[in-house]
Amino acid sequence: MPNGVTAVRTVGDLRAHLAPWRKAGERIALVPTMGALHAGHLSLVTLAKSKADRVVVSIFVNPIQFGPREDFKTYPRDEAGDLDKLRKAGADLVFAPDIAEMYPQGFSTKVSVDDLTEDLCGANRPNHFDGVATVVSKLLLQCGPDLAIFGEKDYQQLLVIKRLVRDLNIQVEILGGEIVREGDGLALSSRNAYLSPAERKTAPLLHQTISEVAAVLAQGEGADAACVAGRFKLEAAGFRVDYVAVRDPDTLKPLSGPVKRARVLAAAYLGKTRLIDNVPVPPTNR
Ligand code: AMP
Repeated sequence: MPNGVTAVRTVGDLRAHLAPWRKAGERIALVPTMGALHAGHLSLVTLAKSKADRVVVSIFVNPIQFGPREDFKTYPRDEAGDLDKLRKAGADLVFAPDIAEMYPQGFSTKVSVDDLTEDLCGANRPNHFDGVATVVSKLLLQCGPDLAIFGEKDYQQLLVIKRLVRDLNIQVEILGGEIVREGDGLALSSRNAYLSPAERKTAPLLHQTISEVAAVLAQGEGADAACVAGRFKLEAAGFRVDYVAVRDPDTLKPLSGPVKRARVLAAAYLGKTRLIDNVPVPPTNR
């Protein structure tokens, strides 16, 4: 199969495929995903291809980052479709381990990043970032890439991963990829598939609202008032708001009053679907 993409399921097979590339001095990028791939994921593969000689994509729905009442069982899975998309996008190798390969009997180690994880998504999803930090640490150690790419869509996650790599001296460069959106502004997400047609119509208001918050902040309005107005607007449209927050873009510390540089982050439910999004201050023209 020309330009075919090989899928491996074990750490041993992964390393066997990587060894000759490494021996040849090729630069290897890893793009971790949970599958059900969309254009957002594929943009990370494109970015990876522009920065490295070889691109490895992992597909693993990581059970330990889901809470007991969350959607681990129903999370969309489409491996055949994913492999086809990755072949077309030019990935070199797919690592798709099963749960026993990642968490064998007796697995008892946890990677936990304090400080960045207490609030925002961490407040409503206890243990979520421990699950993310643990699986990403494993993937980085299994693959040993020169570069790993994560989406800004999960902004808090991106900062958590940068911190853990720094704190544990893992020799890898972490790059963030820009958020890919639908034409109406809704950030692409595998979970968008859960939205009913009516919810899908309402969903772009999340991006619209945080963009408005970013715009008024750029004009000098205080962060607290802007967040309250944003929350109110979302609630009036039927969202159950988890948070609308203005944070330091590097530390995620809360900001109040007028701000120069910040990130506006929000999480809100439409029905059962939890949507997240974020935009920079000052706003970009995207
Ligand atoms: P997931 O499969 O949801 O774990 O996402 C895998 C990677 O793709 C993460 O680094 C996400 O931040 C990133 N990602 C998800 N959605 C988007 C998007 N709309 N634009 C850019 N990156 C994304």
